[in-house]
Amino acid sequence: MNAKIHILTIEDDKNMCAYITALLSKDNYRVTNAATGREGLSLTASLCPDLILLDLGLPDIDGFQVLQQLRGWSHVPVIIVSACDEEQQKVHALDLGADDYVTKPFYPNELTARIRTALRHNRTTAPSETYRALELEIDFDRRMINLAGRQIHLTQIEYQLLSLLAQNSGRVLTYNAIMRQIWGPYAEKNNQILRVNMANIRRKIERNPADPQYVFTEVGIGYRMREKE
Ligand code: CA
Repeated sequence: MNAKIHILTIEDDKNMCAYITALLSKDNYRVTNAATGREGLSLTASLCPDLILLDLGLPDIDGFQVLQQLRGWSHVPVIIVSACDEEQQKVHALDLGADDYVTKPFYPNELTARIRTALRHNRTTAPSETYRALELEIDFDRRMINLAGRQIHLTQIEYQLLSLLAQNSGRVLTYNAIMRQIWGPYAEKNNQILRVNMANIRRKIERNPADPQYVFTEVGIGYRMREKE
């Protein structure tokens, strides 16, 4: 089913490569490996892969540099696969244009789900008209939000915020990226206004705002909305 989808892994750990290759081959992806950052860049240019799995610790140039160079000329989806679990690193990678971040060790299903999400977002050029998950439905055309059949009223900003997350469901959006999109490039650095709006949204759409079902917090990084069904 995924026979033509080509994934490039840029990863110097041979065992990790073998593991990822076996995992993705089972799902019918075609996998090519690059063991250094430079090789990864040149294979990206020559093979035009559909998606890249990028390690951060590489023997020649680090993954951040690879990503930065890549984003100068390519929109290929990039998922960082790294042992580093630091928030700063994740935020930095996402702000440099990575699509997602998976921490090693990872569950096989987690990696393949993130790959499907990144590929899906790359293909849908037109924004979708509706978001539906569990009991929540957003009709972007009519700007209507229904929860279990009941209409929910949001302020202008709350609506913009929720639809931005819903249009990117399944992906993590950093606080910076959200602030820029909603409040513009000169938005204040602090996220207080974002947190306040998010708390209001959660009070309106979540049964238990402390244990959200729709908008998840990625601590220190940003928010991720439940993948639409
Ligand atoms: Ca490495």
